[in-house]
Amino acid sequence: MDKTEKFQSTCCYCGVGCGVVVQKQPNGQLTLTGDAEHPSNKGMLCSKGMNLHYTVMDQTDRILYPRMRYSRASPLQRVSWDEALERAAAVFATLIRQHGPDSVAFYVSGQCLTEEYYLVNKLIKGFIGSNNIDTNSRLCMSSAVVGYKLSLGEDSVPVCYDDIEVADVFLVTGANPAWCHPILWRRIEARKAANPHVKIICVDPRKTDTARSADLHLPISPGTDVLFNHALAKALIENGSIDHDFIQQHTDGFEDLLSLIDDICIQEAAITCGLPEEDIRQAAQWIGQAKGFLSLWTMGLNQSVIGVNKNLSLINLHLITGRIGSPGNGPFSLTGQPNAMGGRETGGLANILPAHRDVTNPAHRSHMEAFWQTPVPISEKPGLTATEIFEALDEGKLKALWIINTNPMVSMPDINRVEKAMGKAKFVVVQDISERADTVAHADLVLPAAGWLEKEGTMTNAERRITYLPKVMEAPGEALPDVEIIWKFAQKMGFKEAFSYTKAEDVYLEYARCTANTNIDITGVNYELLQRKRSIQWPSPKNHPAENGGTQRLFEDHQFFTNTKRAKIHAPPIYNESEKTDSEFPLVLTTGRIRDQWHTMTKTGRVSRLTRHIPKPVVQIHPADAEARNIQDGDLVVVQGRRGQVRLKAECSEDLRQGVCFLPMHWGKIAGLADTRANNLTNALVDPRSKEPDFKYTAVQVSRYCKP
Ligand code: SF4
Repeated sequence: MDKTEKFQSTCCYCGVGCGVVVQKQPNGQLTLTGDAEHPSNKGMLCSKGMNLHYTVMDQTDRILYPRMRYSRASPLQRVSWDEALERAAAVFATLIRQHGPDSVAFYVSGQCLTEEYYLVNKLIKGFIGSNNIDTNSRLCMSSAVVGYKLSLGEDSVPVCYDDIEVADVFLVTGANPAWCHPILWRRIEARKAANPHVKIICVDPRKTDTARSADLHLPISPGTDVLFNHALAKALIENGSIDHDFIQQHTDGFEDLLSLIDDICIQEAAITCGLPEEDIRQAAQWIGQAKGFLSLWTMGLNQSVIGVNKNLSLINLHLITGRIGSPGNGPFSLTGQPNAMGGRETGGLANILPAHRDVTNPAHRSHMEAFWQTPVPISEKPGLTATEIFEALDEGKLKALWIINTNPMVSMPDINRVEKAMGKAKFVVVQDISERADTVAHADLVLPAAGWLEKEGTMTNAERRITYLPKVMEAPGEALPDVEIIWKFAQKMGFKEAFSYTKAEDVYLEYARCTANTNIDITGVNYELLQRKRSIQWPSPKNHPAENGGTQRLFEDHQFFTNTKRAKIHAPPIYNESEKTDSEFPLVLTTGRIRDQWHTMTKTGRVSRLTRHIPKPVVQIHPADAEARNIQDGDLVVVQGRRGQVRLKAECSEDLRQGVCFLPMHWGKIAGLADTRANNLTNALVDPRSKEPDFKYTAVQVSRYCKP
């Protein structure tokens, strides 16, 4: 190679899915810019995206070779790929023979490519005979998935990014896009700058950068979102801002909502939510007057023991006003990870099959059994979800766990229990790119995976947009693409014919075929089209004008994905099941992201220009709460919860509600320093329907650290 090569790819961090142009110099050096042709970001990149190539070029800490330990007490030793996969296959086969297929599980990631997600699903659900596969997307999106299914009939984001440029009112609730989805936020800011009548409402107990830019910040009391959304619905009804024709022609359930909110007094609701009544009424007035109303949310609604109810009560606002399925209107759950959406499409959750089919639906199971030609029936029993996987390890019911591209030893709630559970596993495989992943220390077998730019495949972003990611460079050492590791392992398990792939595209085309005649049909999309068109939004079936970019917006005909084709308005009850604060643990801890770090920092933690923004974790506490505890800004403090503690510096900040404190979720155990994992404190309570953990509500106490 003697000239610079140019590739179009997609950022591998958040679900915005920005297009990037990577230039590879003859000496292998990379430069990176935003892709002006990509419709998601139009050339813009945030700080994380701009520094993406440094994470690739810096090969420090990469896992280079398979390593295995022969007993728990022995160290990891380098082995060949053959030896590694033969040992894994032998252990899995023995455990399955002795304890049944549900004795093994896979735990994967929203950073896996669609092909990888599909293939690992096919292996465990169709060929091992267990549904024990779940993803770290369970920790961020599953409440939205259930909310969409219950209200719209399927897990389907109805809107597209271009709706931002025609919306008048943005209700940003439980989200901080200014830091976590920065490019979408820039599009929202540009919309507002061009149109002064545009209003941004931000609902968040913290005064984030998003809240600072909003026209109206509603610093809601944690756990009261359902009541707040119902109060908004009531105010919309009182203002005459609902669409009776739409409700009558296209929805069911309005009467149930009416009778529930009949008992709600907006004035009392405002007191419970900790908000001025006039602010709730102002928000309702703006929403009612808007021609385009977008609601955007992430973890503040989803990561809750009542996450589904929060989603349903928010989606109601669109259904009662008819603000869905038209330009600038609709509920828009922002995806946290680059391919969380693709994972859901391929069935990467313990309760679903590819193309949004359900494991509990006999017709769906039969279809996939025939499609895959499975040697065993697909189990009708949903598999273990993320937190259940570690509970089952702890209880000895689950024997082996294969972890792909995720770092549960930092990201799971109640991490001390998870750490104990990992110690009880008979066999743990960690397939990852980085030795920095804390989970590697718990592995019996470590497999080196190829990273971003080192493999090809596809991803789907938050607006259902599928993009193709080319292979730009060779992976270091003996690292292999994840999809290849999975098909090689499946072959070692004896499933040679069904996993006789030679390239990622074969896997993609098989997956696309199984979406035929479903609501997410992508039979009209292939690698060649994606390379030529850059990206396509699903559905895009054969004979569909995919050349035009697929389907921009869903439900424009107001025909929803329910059996009746009518959307369902729900009447979720008002209660919060989070753990209770008391005199011992009087503060509510909420956790979240910071601007320049990503997940557990295995990638962004290596880039010095990203660590400068916030170099160390601190606990933010309101000055009044600090004063009551004799804590000064910068003091070393102990944050104590019912399951553990962390010791770190305090930052006194009026950006929080009194009674609430905040910890970033990124940091693991820092060598030589105190353990600052936020999940020492969080609990394993989950929403009963979505099984998403309650990361945003933990009872804690904060006190000055005194040397013993
Ligand atoms: Fe990457 Fe998200 Fe930033 Fe876009 S907004 S550059 S996808 S991290």
